[in-house]
Amino acid sequence: MNEAKILTANGTGVVAGIAYADVVWVRPRPALPSSTTSIAEEDRAAELERFITAADAVAARLDDRVTTADGAAADVLAATAGMVRDRGWRKNIRKNINGGMDAEYATADATEKFVTMFQNAGGVMAERTTDLKDIRDRVIAELRGEEEPGLPIISGEAILFADDLSPADTAALDVNHYKALVTELGGPTSHTAIIARQLNLPCIVAAGHSLRDFPAGTPVLVDGSLGTVTNAVSAEEARKLVQESEKRAAKVALWRGPAITSDGHRVQLLANVQDGNAARIAAQTQAEGIGLYRTEMSFLSATEEPSIEEQAKIYGRVFKAFPGSKVVVRTLDAGSDKPIAFANMATEENPALGVRGLRIARDNEALLTRQLDAIAKAASEREGDGPTWVMAPMVATAREARWFASLCRERNLTPGAMIEVPAAALMADKIMPHLDFVSIGTNDLTQYTMAADRLSPQLAYLTDPWQPAVLRLIHQTCLMGQTTDTAVGVCGEAAADPLLACVLTGLGVNSLSAASTAIAGVGAQLAEVTLEQCQEAANAAMNAEGATVARESVRAMFLDN
Ligand code: PEP
Ligand code: MG
Repeated sequence: MNEAKILTANGTGVVAGIAYADVVWVRPRPALPSSTTSIAEEDRAAELERFITAADAVAARLDDRVTTADGAAADVLAATAGMVRDRGWRKNIRKNINGGMDAEYATADATEKFVTMFQNAGGVMAERTTDLKDIRDRVIAELRGEEEPGLPIISGEAILFADDLSPADTAALDVNHYKALVTELGGPTSHTAIIARQLNLPCIVAAGHSLRDFPAGTPVLVDGSLGTVTNAVSAEEARKLVQESEKRAAKVALWRGPAITSDGHRVQLLANVQDGNAARIAAQTQAEGIGLYRTEMSFLSATEEPSIEEQAKIYGRVFKAFPGSKVVVRTLDAGSDKPIAFANMATEENPALGVRGLRIARDNEALLTRQLDAIAKAASEREGDGPTWVMAPMVATAREARWFASLCRERNLTPGAMIEVPAAALMADKIMPHLDFVSIGTNDLTQYTMAADRLSPQLAYLTDPWQPAVLRLIHQTCLMGQTTDTAVGVCGEAAADPLLACVLTGLGVNSLSAASTAIAGVGAQLAEVTLEQCQEAANAAMNAEGATVARESVRAMFLDN
């Protein structure tokens, strides 16, 4: 066991919860035909009939499953069955067959056209390509008389691994057997994620190619809030973590906001989002507003800068989900791992230390002011009376903060800054007087404090937000926040970890913003502790010799009894 190769994968956790079981891979999709046999004219009617029979059989099987599912799962199964009956799709296939293609090739060819069309449309449409490929594969398998691709029937417990599980298969998942779902592809707003959320099945999407390294039968630990999968844990340790997680899950399910410690200390819990879709999902949780709207995520594939009107429309979708609540919009954090074509960045040797975030605006102030104009326009058109706050990423000096704040105030926007460069934490007393609030980005603050690339799996032991060095910088920022009467929030991944959230509260943070899936877990944990216990935990963590000791000592204080 100890000699087994260590395997790890990281993705986007969309449903919190810890599970431990053997890996089972979904049954493979059928190989797609690369060429067609030419169907003679007199046989084409029969070939078309063969396709219709197969497609109808697939649709009928999906209909059968609708009767045993409920809620979103039933809707998805019915919608998938509807796609198999879709007139436009069938018409294209009929045209192919009438032109002499065999049914398998005709199906693959027609579907490909729809996939391209959906992908070009982008956004929510692009996520629907999984549904299309799914119906194609089911029909092709049926035509060949092969087993339907998808979920294997199992008797014990398992963790389901898939390249991209179809919504229909997700809807048919038996949670008595499948304890978690991990997909190589997919996105947090895909149907797969929506159903996993409804089933309350721990789920990670977009775990990448490294998932392929896990052979079937490997026992793995899945953490749906951290988005991690690993085999580097003993069965005994895993069982303990699963038990803790089950106990916690029961409490989390009962928790209702707002977040408050057992002795009455309020902490504002907010959501991190990247678009209107994610904001709508967040609005269904106990989030009190949006603490980080990553605007650059809407422009990753844009080749040209959208006009002020277009931008305002995009931002308006996020505001719409939280009409009466605070929304913190972050201006473009282009660069490094999020290059944006229209921000015109030259290739750099060290992009993480280069012209990223607010730095881009030094040579291109108009790019920033157009974005601020768009935010101000969208804010003025908000339906409710929720406050709009705006913050700049990668602020390093008081001068940058002053410049950004003046641009915001000219537009009646409430200015703030991310504290994610160590210099900004150390100089917070000089930076804060220019601003109304700061929000600590623990992802980058950890990367820059530890001099370790946040994307490097080998350096994950350093890029751990429990690093006492990072906690000390946060503490110092909070103290300066008290002196200058400036609100201090945290919007990095640290805020998604319930124990670390207690530590952050103890350090003096006023608001925590995290992925919406993590909010109830954090709120339920805060409800169990007093502010004084949070402060004791913060002291212990800050004074630990390293991240592991810090985490373990707080775990012992809060969870082991
Ligand atoms: C951070 O750095 O912690 C942060 C919230 O911003 P991002 O992850 O988008 O860099
Ligand atoms: Mg950052």
